[in-house]
Amino acid sequence: MKTRHDSTKIQTIVIGGGQAGLTTGYFLAKRGLPFLILDANQHVGDAWRQRWDSLRLFTPARYAGLPGMRFPARGDSFPTKNHLADYLVEYARHFHLPIRNGVRVERLWRENGRFLISAGRERFEAENVIVAMANYQVPRIPEFTRELRPDIVQLHSQDYRNPSQLQEGGVLVVGVGNSGADIAIEVAQSHPTWISGKESGHIPWAIETFIARNFLIRLVRFVGHHILAVKTPIGRKLRPKMLHRPAPLIRVKPKDLIKVGIENVVRVIGVKDGFPLLADGRVSEVQNVIWCTGFERGFPWIDLPIWDSQGDPIHENGIVTAVPGMYFVGLHFLYSMTSATLTGVGRDAERVVKALASRRQPFASTSAHRMHPMEMQSLEGAVAETTDAR
Ligand code: FAD
Repeated sequence: MKTRHDSTKIQTIVIGGGQAGLTTGYFLAKRGLPFLILDANQHVGDAWRQRWDSLRLFTPARYAGLPGMRFPARGDSFPTKNHLADYLVEYARHFHLPIRNGVRVERLWRENGRFLISAGRERFEAENVIVAMANYQVPRIPEFTRELRPDIVQLHSQDYRNPSQLQEGGVLVVGVGNSGADIAIEVAQSHPTWISGKESGHIPWAIETFIARNFLIRLVRFVGHHILAVKTPIGRKLRPKMLHRPAPLIRVKPKDLIKVGIENVVRVIGVKDGFPLLADGRVSEVQNVIWCTGFERGFPWIDLPIWDSQGDPIHENGIVTAVPGMYFVGLHFLYSMTSATLTGVGRDAERVVKALASRRQPFASTSAHRMHPMEMQSLEGAVAETTDAR
């Protein structure tokens, strides 16, 4: 068993190696600060690669690139999820970001002014911790799903890949968000499909048109990035509501659902005779249910007193003032509407790293960096390359 003395000591640990963690790493490397990224997934890009097969981004390539490296596609095209995953792999490789995959952090706590992190048999100590990940970590599934008949195929959108996972018969897609609408359109080609719930608005134009791809998207980005932000009165007013409200439909419109024969039914409120029970008393006798009911943040492993009454971490633009040295990047509306997206995460990461760099590192002179020689090399490479790229 490892003792405390066997801990790997690093000045800064970044937890999460998706786009939020990689961008944070880019800015840490650029400042020459020692760090290590820990990620539970086996490979860089897995969070994107493991989403459903036909997923295409709603962000055009022009805004899908992270700081320091443009996305390699025509600016007004919409990348596939695998293309984005490949880009993240290349981003980590190009900047030699020190990342340990397959390391799931199980507990983060503080002792004697240092952060301690346990992950399986490993232990890490750090002066700063940046939790870098969006809110989409743990599938949210209603409790009553366990009461559905065992012969009904049930999947959460996180586990849905394509219609071949479904059995013959009807499909009830629960949730009219972007995932639910996209998936319903796809399964409706091979199965009678119903979609349950109420849409929370939709963008009133088709995003694939030339005008939308080249002009309207700039307008939407401007509003989401600069107007709906903590720095504006309207942004501060709307933020509490937007934190817990689903996003409007972006690609698929309600009329697209009707066009392919999908019937919109009311909310599922429970189970009757083993089938989903709708709020209007009807029973949906389907053979498949796809829960597109969203995600939880999934932070039970953070053992620190940083939560508000709704269970959200209390921070100012990603800086946790109650626990010096603790930061977040990637959360929904961390600073603006774009914070959890490809186009917004870089700005937040840069600001957080700037705050971290200006913090007096309490144990800087005593902490022995025990980075793997390869990681040290990578870091030196990253600093050299990012300096070249400026
Ligand atoms: P994630 O990609 O979720 O990465 C977090 C990483 O943290 C993961 O690799 C995970 O393994 C790791 N992790 C989690 N817990 C731990 C732990 N305890 N220990 C160690 N590692 C851990 N945004 C756009 O800009 N454009 C789009 O078109 C778009 N489409 C989307 C479509 C879907 C279906 C979804 C769900 C989101 C979409 N988003 C889109 C939003 C956002 O860009 C993505 O969710 C993106 O994956 C967020 O990146 P991230 O790095 O913040 O978090």
